[in-house]
Amino acid sequence: MKKEFVVIGLGRFGGSIVNELIELDADVMAIDISPEKVDAYAQIATQAVAADTTDESVLRSLGIRNFEHVVVAIGENIQASILTTLMLKEIGVKKITVKAQNDYHEKVLRKIGADQVVHPERDMGIRIANNMVSNNILDYLELSDEHSIAEIKANDKLVGFTLIDLDIRAKYGVNIVAIKRGKQILVSPQAIEKIQLEDILIVIGSDADIHRFEKKAL
Ligand code: ATP
Ligand code: ATP
Ligand code: CA
Repeated sequence: MKKEFVVIGLGRFGGSIVNELIELDADVMAIDISPEKVDAYAQIATQAVAADTTDESVLRSLGIRNFEHVVVAIGENIQASILTTLMLKEIGVKKITVKAQNDYHEKVLRKIGADQVVHPERDMGIRIANNMVSNNILDYLELSDEHSIAEIKANDKLVGFTLIDLDIRAKYGVNIVAIKRGKQILVSPQAIEKIQLEDILIVIGSDADIHRFEKKAL
């Protein structure tokens, strides 16, 4: 059985979700108030519908209730985004993800029961800024407000030493969960593993510990 999703709002963000879900072999109903936007996805989405999603009867007639997860990617029109989320909640959609435009928008969305609120522009900005100030952190994934997984490039202060030599967990509180070495990936490396030039360490820990590790060890 294919997973079935609904994406409302076919701007750059919603559109990219539709494309990727289709790539991932899911069924997608793509909805936008603008017929031109809908036309652009007619050949891509499983179903593309022109509709105003702030209208509850429209949502009911499309059978939105039966989909497992709905994404609301209406950006600029905050009122339409909030009303749509409210209607989805009222008809009993199980999981709703909404793109927020700002913190006030997010607060309201959470109050009315959005399951997940995302800020793609803000989050991508934070990510890029972090990459800019750190030469060694290649990428990171937030696990919570305070914990992350980071990809850190090993440098010559680490190369040739084992994890025991460096005593990383004990000294910095971070765990190396994997080491990327060229095309290879060593999952759960042994304590006696020697770090090599060009290794990329995948570490998990609190943001504070990861930064301490990156500053002090590298
Ligand atoms: P981007 O992802 O490109 O940054 P954005 O955040 O700037 O998008 P908008 O372009 O304002 O968001 O909105 C995304 C889409 O949502 C638009 O294509 C718009 O037509 C659609 N939309 C706006 N109001 C409604 C509505 N009531 N019902 C359905 N779709 C709507
Ligand atoms: P711990 O006292 O931390 O439980 P341990 O008894 O499991 O360590 P070893 O596995 O031999 O002992 O590791 C010795 C030290 O090497 C650890 O205390 C830790 O500092 C470091 N170390 C080993 N594996 C890792 C890892 N995957 N990530 C970070 N540090 C590690
Ligand atoms: Ca925008």
